[in-house]
Amino acid sequence: MKGERKYRDIICKKFCSYYKPGKEEISCGAFEFLKTSLTPEELKDLINGNLFINPFLEQKDLCQRCDFRFNDCDFYAGHSPDPCGGYRIIETVIEQQSNRAAAQQFLERQNDSATERQR
Ligand code: SF4
Repeated sequence: MKGERKYRDIICKKFCSYYKPGKEEISCGAFEFLKTSLTPEELKDLINGNLFINPFLEQKDLCQRCDFRFNDCDFYAGHSPDPCGGYRIIETVIEQQSNRAAAQQFLERQNDSATERQR
């Protein structure tokens, strides 16, 4: 499937250490979740920090929707620190955005204090 290949290129080939060429007929919950939630362009924007994450995109949702979680995922079983590519994308984006939000709040507090001092 042509559209599917775009998602594989963005998510699996770049971000997933478990990706195996030729096994494209199976995909994990994170892949399916991202594929049904975002267009390839939105996904690229999300990875590049140009699209703010929707609150419904949470890491725990990804694994709960994934058929690999009980038998085929070492991360879910606690045997590996490396989640799949889709999970890593969401994890990274959430971290970046919370850092950005924290930095923004800090700057706003600094500005408020400066305004108070000028009064
Ligand atoms: S980390 Fe494992 S269980 Fe969670 S979505 Fe990825 S493959 Fe599935």
